[in-house]
Amino acid sequence: MFEKIDEKVKNLAVVIFLLECIGAIIGGIVVWKTADDYGFLLFLAIAGGGFIAAWINSLIVYAIGEAAEGTKYVRPLCEPEPKQESKETNSKTAPATNTHKPDASSMTLVCPKCGTKNDVARVFCIKCGERLS
Ligand SMILES: [Zn+2]
Repeated sequence: MFEKIDEKVKNLAVVIFLLECIGAIIGGIVVWKTADDYGFLLFLAIAGGGFIAAWINSLIVYAIGEAAEGTKYVRPLCEPEPKQESKETNSKTAPATNTHKPDASSMTLVCPKCGTKNDVARVFCIKCGERLS
């Protein structure tokens, strides 16, 4: 449900913008028709103000979408143990997982894929997610 949340939020920004513009125009027309004097000026004020408010709102929502997109690239670094079990079955070209060896200190494991030193307790590489044991 929350896959590609950034795309959904960005689409939501467009929808919010359109809905608020339509709402502002409709509201402006209603005031225009009901007001005796300066009806058209009220229409311009409401429609114009609504347009600006809609633009600002959609910008905020779009910014949230941008932030969600940003965290998508940061997340792998924050989650050192991604679920990659299914990947192993068809990784014939990948280096064998038993080529890793304990570091000189024997407290770290060198990732067979990217060479990053990982804590021995880790199952997956903190950098690339390769299985270490
Ligand atoms: Zn690695």
